[in-house]
Amino acid sequence: MGIVDRVIANSVPAIPRPVVRRISRRYMAGEDLEEAIGTVRDLNKQGCVATLDVLGESTKDRADAAGKLEQYKRVIDAVVENDLASGVSVKLTGLGLDLDEGLCRSNLEEVIVYAGERGRFVRVDMEDSSYTARTIRIVLDMHERHGNTGAVVQAYLRRSLGDVRLLAEAGVSVRLCKGIYVEPREVAYKGFDTVRQNFVLLLEELMKAGCYVGVATHDEYLVWHALRVSHELGIPKGGYEFQMLLGVDEQLRRILVEGGQKVRVYVPFGKDWYEYSTRRLKENPKIARYVAQDVVGG
Ligand code: FAD
Repeated sequence: MGIVDRVIANSVPAIPRPVVRRISRRYMAGEDLEEAIGTVRDLNKQGCVATLDVLGESTKDRADAAGKLEQYKRVIDAVVENDLASGVSVKLTGLGLDLDEGLCRSNLEEVIVYAGERGRFVRVDMEDSSYTARTIRIVLDMHERHGNTGAVVQAYLRRSLGDVRLLAEAGVSVRLCKGIYVEPREVAYKGFDTVRQNFVLLLEELMKAGCYVGVATHDEYLVWHALRVSHELGIPKGGYEFQMLLGVDEQLRRILVEGGQKVRVYVPFGKDWYEYSTRRLKENPKIARYVAQDVVGG
């Protein structure tokens, strides 16, 4: 990343909310459930499945966490009523992990049971490394009790090889991604190529162990490796899936779908869009530059 890009990326949080909102609209399915359902319907028509995420991270109190639980139930109801191909993605801090682990477990379990009774899957997003151990532990437990629960592993974390072995052994479905949080070097690999190589290593480990993998990337080098490994191991299309974010590289998404691959799109929606959007804008300096131009250009 060049110095200009770095300056722009680091300045993103200072960008006014209306501008962030305008630029990041393509990454979100609006503020309301109705809009999100419309987006999933369109994606299903395009041959993609989805996972719906209600935006908003760490909850401030028990009432907030209970509200998030109810929102997820409404999402699951809407998915079922509209006969859509979609699961949900949840963040444990949204369900109360910072308040009380027991409360969070009980909220998560209620979402999982509610989804399971309606034939839907719950993916537990992975947050920053201070939550990794607890999240893996909780997901393993929920998977054992209910089945319809999946984990996320971040390829930038040094600990991830151990985690994939544990999850694969337990038969947990894993979404593999590079990881989006800023982590200290002690816990995370920093080099772009190192993270890529670790992604490939983890992917091979998971696929060889027979794990159902959600290959969550827009990096075509990694997409190619997933196709290579599945080919070498004789895993048929649908024995794994690609996962992409709403609004990112729709061309690659189309190419994969037309090639008969299963593609799931992550569809975030809700009122708490600012945090999600600024994280994505920081991640991608090209878009941050676009934001900066927008601010300067008015
Ligand atoms: P990159 O090298 O970052 O990107 C490859 C190419 O994709 C870039 O050249 C760029 O053109 C394009 N691109 C990538 N990101 C964007 C963007 N935001 N806007 C526009 N273009 C872009 N991370 C977590 O830490 N925890 C999670 O639970 C989690 N869940 C995820 C779920 C899904 C379905 C996906 C796709 C990602 C998830 N991530 C999660 C984010 C992930 O860790 C990466 O930060 C993100 O996917 C970018 O990495 P990449 O593999 O696409 O490679």
